[in-house]
Amino acid sequence: MQDCRTIELRKTVPVLQDVDVLVAGGGPAGIGAAVSAARQSVSVLVIERYGFLGGVFTSCDVPSFMGFYHRGRKVAGGVADELVNDLARQSLVKFVDGPTRNEIAREQLDERSLVIIDGERAKKAFEGLVTQAGAEILFHAWASSPVMLERRVTGLCVETRGGAKAVRAKVVIDATGDGHVAALCGVPHTGDSRQNQAKSLVFRFGGVGPMDIKAVHAQIRQDQQAGVFPFPKHRLTHFIPLFVPGQVMVNMTQAGGDSTDCRELSRMEMDLREQGWQVFEYLTDRIEAFKDAYVVSSGVQAGIRQSRNFRAMHTLCENDLRQAAPSEDAIALAVGLMGSHDPAGAHYPHLERLDSVCQVPFHCLVPENVEGLLLSGRCIGVEPRIQDAIRLMPICMATGSAAGTAAALAAQSGCRLADVPVTELQAALRQGGAILA
Ligand SMILES: Cc1cc2nc3c(=O)[nH]c(=O)nc-3n(C[C@H](O)[C@H](O)[C@H](O)COP(=O)(O)OP(=O)(O)OC[C@H]3O[C@@H](n4cnc5c(N)ncnc54)[C@H](O)[C@@H]3O)c2cc1C
Repeated sequence: MQDCRTIELRKTVPVLQDVDVLVAGGGPAGIGAAVSAARQSVSVLVIERYGFLGGVFTSCDVPSFMGFYHRGRKVAGGVADELVNDLARQSLVKFVDGPTRNEIAREQLDERSLVIIDGERAKKAFEGLVTQAGAEILFHAWASSPVMLERRVTGLCVETRGGAKAVRAKVVIDATGDGHVAALCGVPHTGDSRQNQAKSLVFRFGGVGPMDIKAVHAQIRQDQQAGVFPFPKHRLTHFIPLFVPGQVMVNMTQAGGDSTDCRELSRMEMDLREQGWQVFEYLTDRIEAFKDAYVVSSGVQAGIRQSRNFRAMHTLCENDLRQAAPSEDAIALAVGLMGSHDPAGAHYPHLERLDSVCQVPFHCLVPENVEGLLLSGRCIGVEPRIQDAIRLMPICMATGSAAGTAAALAAQSGCRLADVPVTELQAALRQGGAILA
């Protein structure tokens, strides 16, 4: 049926491949999912829209893992640990415990909590990890629509340079960050995308001299009061000295809006770029360490911290986090952080840091009304307010690993995803170094 506002498309597409587990998205969650599924000896394909893996890590110039520890307690291990330890053996990692960021952020840092990796080397390391586990990667492939048999996902239609192709799969894992596949499958999601955490375009500066970050923040505060700083008071001012000497990640732009609306996203990209260059002008003009700085790069895209949180069979809520609620079905840990990155760009007015750590039940990964699909990473079933608890990269890798392992178990046994034997899943995760308690 057509009206003047819509057109109907029907297409017949060639089948590229049949796999046991199809992972849409090659960010931290997708990497965790692909590696863990492949290690269970099932066939795995990861499709990624860019020409490299890493998600926000590589596409948004944020080569720093946070959240391995919370209040001194180790909360994430598994594939993320493996990756960092392997890179550390090659001296490609810097562990930062010192004052690298502003005061509030500094308080979040626990021992080895900020792990800085050479971003370009990491692209190669991610590929090595995934392919050595036995998974295949398809780059420049956009998951455009699910192939559905009633309420069951049986594969994805993928847009490639060679046209649309279909990949059939026993299980599909949504690791797209935004939950693109789950949304297309009609899984209900919570959260008003406008109210979600601010988006940021991160810039990498080179030629930066030695700096006393405390003094830089003092100068910025003084300039804010004097009206010299180009942005409102309390703006995000994160600097992370990167792996390459003289290079600093400058995370000082913020925009609010709906990142799932193509026009709004375009508007935010332009707004954030404008802000980034204003920041550059300000820093090179006012801050001694930046006087000879130049822009090395900015993210391939704006960094999205939050867009959709899906309704899963279990939704992790604020109370669970506050009370450190235990779960017999734990597959990962969530940390006691919530309310950072106000959408309007105010500096952490609602940030809360709790001592607690809470277990993430397996059914936060199982969407409510669709079969054959698992959620992973930053779009799993949590209340939007506690997004910070699950969005850091090591934790996204952990939920990805759990999704990958569960998908493999279901593909092998033919059971429903909701019925995956959790004790078997937990045993496999523990064997891979996951921290569940
Ligand atoms: C500005 C910013 C700074 C941050 N700083 C830190 C930090 O310092 N430390 C930390 O640990 N965390 C940080 N985070 C949080 C963290 O980076 C993200 O929450 C995390 O990367 C989410 O992982 P993910 O795998 O769920 O999604 P993503 O990292 O978003 O990865 C999703 C992947 O899917 C791909 N994709 C999307 N749609 C499709 C599609 N339809 N078809 C094919 N591929 C698709 C994307 O290209 C991407 O590779 C930051 C986030 C932002 C935005």
